[in-house]
Amino acid sequence: MFSGLLKCGECGANLIVGTGGGTHKHKKYVCANYFNRGTCGNDLYIRRDVLEERLLKRLQSELLRPEVIDYAVGEVGRQLRSHRLSLSGDLSKLRLRKEQLDRETTSTTISRLRCRKTLTRMSYTAVVASRSWTKHEMSSC
Ligand SMILES: [Zn+2]
Repeated sequence: MFSGLLKCGECGANLIVGTGGGTHKHKKYVCANYFNRGTCGNDLYIRRDVLEERLLKRLQSELLRPEVIDYAVGEVGRQLRSHRLSLSGDLSKLRLRKEQLDRETTSTTISRLRCRKTLTRMSYTAVVASRSWTKHEMSSC
């Protein structure tokens, strides 16, 4: 439960759950450097269930005091307000971007329509030209 949070008092390495240190019936925390590499002299093993129970009791007594709860609630509220402000800033930026994209889409659509009109006119002219050319060819035959 507390892996990665518990440190060796001698070398500062993480405590890991290892076996050894007397009876093997219980899982125990031990310094990772002592257990894996033998590079730390801290040979203290402490039963996992005993240590975790002590830590939880300590955390409960420390964290569930009214002033700590008031502080936590205040801090969460402050962060929520700050997050909301940031979100409303993002929303304003997104609205501006949407308006810009809407304008661009409208102008692109108008350009496309103009293009299509021009193409239609050109192909009409081409058809007329090819007809008259064909007539001309036929009459010259
Ligand atoms: Zn150590």
